[in-house]
Amino acid sequence: MGLADSPFKVAIASGKGGTGKTLVSTSLAAYIGEFESVLLADLDVEEPNDAIFIKGDLKDIQPQFRFVPDWDITRCDMCGMCEELCNFNALAALDGMVVVYEKLCHSCYACSEMCPKEALPMKKSHIGDISYFNMGMVTLLEGRLNVNEEQPVGLIKLVQERSVKCDQEARFHIFDSPPGTSCSMIASIEECDQLLLVTEPTPFGLNDLVLAIHAARLLDKPVAVVVNRYGSGNAMVEEYCKENNIDVVARIPYDMTIAERYSKGGLMLDKHCFRSVIAGIFNYLERKEANRRRR
Ligand code: SF4
Ligand code: SF4
Repeated sequence: MGLADSPFKVAIASGKGGTGKTLVSTSLAAYIGEFESVLLADLDVEEPNDAIFIKGDLKDIQPQFRFVPDWDITRCDMCGMCEELCNFNALAALDGMVVVYEKLCHSCYACSEMCPKEALPMKKSHIGDISYFNMGMVTLLEGRLNVNEEQPVGLIKLVQERSVKCDQEARFHIFDSPPGTSCSMIASIEECDQLLLVTEPTPFGLNDLVLAIHAARLLDKPVAVVVNRYGSGNAMVEEYCKENNIDVVARIPYDMTIAERYSKGGLMLDKHCFRSVIAGIFNYLERKEANRRRR
């Protein structure tokens, strides 16, 4: 399969939480799923909630692992090299023993490979799960990080790998990204063909949007904007987008009935004004996907 035939990957992100990216992600997936297969990947692995809205059948749960060093006391001669070598302070050689701080370990394998006594073999460590749901033609992959696990990026990458294997027939893969501009947000948009940033028309919304756009530009990703709660704030976001040649592809009206239904886990595609907004986003993405096909 060539690049032009592979699924068009759309990451939906926001500079901060609570701006409506899950609303857009799940609604878009449900809308597309009315007439063709689509894959939605919940990459907000520290707080996944797409399954609240995509009420599908749970098909499978697969545990996910990363690898961390496992000190072998019988081989170690306490040379201390591993402590010096680890860039993440995840090892300490003291009082006749080597302590591994698993939460700090980035699974780089350096200590394991460099230990002269082969005293740090790598072992599996459970970091979370990937769940598979089906709702009609929508496949939802949900990454869920263990509560005490501090490194979401590894699991985000694993969900992305699974999505590639899961449904290559779908024209669109939608990634619901973590909020903010942290490493996890960056990891979630690295593979996308198009980034949609959901924001709100306020000074805070603009501030976080600008940060997210800078992050996207560092990765050379095409960006478009969805304005949520349109009509509730000011025009600063629209003016910024116009000045910077960024498409505003949709404006979701400020409407308390949308907020109420959303808070109860309901999709709103039966609500005409909302449905037409989601249809507009889909039309935009179809044009982008067709452009890539032509290239
Ligand atoms: S590098 Fe290997 S042998 Fe040296 S202290 Fe670390 S575990 Fe022990
Ligand atoms: S695998 Fe890498 S990050 Fe983890 S303890 Fe070893 S050197 Fe440090």
